[in-house]
Amino acid sequence: MRVLSSAPFACCLILWSALSLAAQQPPAGQGAAPKPRPQDTEVFEPVPPVVVPGASNTGAPSDAIVLFDGRNLDEWVNQRDRSPAGWTVANGVFTVNKPVGNIETKRTFRNYQLHIEWLIPEHISGDGQARGNSGVFLASTGSGDAGYEIQVLDSFNSKTYVNGQAGSVYKQHIPLVNAMRKPGEWQAYDIIWTAPVWNPDGSLKSSAYVTVLHNGVLIQNHVELKGETVYIGPPNYGRPYDRAPIKLQSHGDPSPVISFRNVWARELN
Ligand code: MG
Repeated sequence: MRVLSSAPFACCLILWSALSLAAQQPPAGQGAAPKPRPQDTEVFEPVPPVVVPGASNTGAPSDAIVLFDGRNLDEWVNQRDRSPAGWTVANGVFTVNKPVGNIETKRTFRNYQLHIEWLIPEHISGDGQARGNSGVFLASTGSGDAGYEIQVLDSFNSKTYVNGQAGSVYKQHIPLVNAMRKPGEWQAYDIIWTAPVWNPDGSLKSSAYVTVLHNGVLIQNHVELKGETVYIGPPNYGRPYDRAPIKLQSHGDPSPVISFRNVWARELN
């Protein structure tokens, strides 16, 4: 029996494939995909609004809400009863008045950038957490120390638990480095706060995040919060809020009180 060779069939198949491919190809120079150009990835809108920077790198830019300009605490109230803030204003700075308690902004915020400068007295006494303790509560969600605290404390050659030292997200995140200046020198925090978001049913939709620079040095890099600051026990997101004031802590420790100046915020909504 004669065996049929498959060679002619294979030859036809190759020819057919070549013709099909040629039919799919556009003629040279017609309909070919355009060559990518630099302009293809250049975006011209929306144009970012112009913001004039402050005179120094710590001065309030043109679109900031100035929360303290050295003259008065009109932007602040006593947290307890919403009466005038009651902390001491002198020489362009304001100082904690411990019997008054915490103060907070009249305005409420969601996402924002905050600049705030603070001073531990040169001759601070005490140790650990009792050494110029205050705090910046990024959202004041209730009475007392309810909210989300960035610790204010003397941590210059002063030991305490590291998730409670200056620049910590109190009891949640240790600062990346200790950028503390010595007592008697002004410190600065630049903070970017992304507020937590809840679903309508009260469940958490997205966590809070915070970035903090201490004296221009990155110490918290977009860290995720596990909830509100809690002194005893784990943090939790038990208190949904939409917008909240920024609060400053009048801590009960007996050490000399600390001062603040040059406070401004930019909303990031
Ligand atoms: Mg504190």
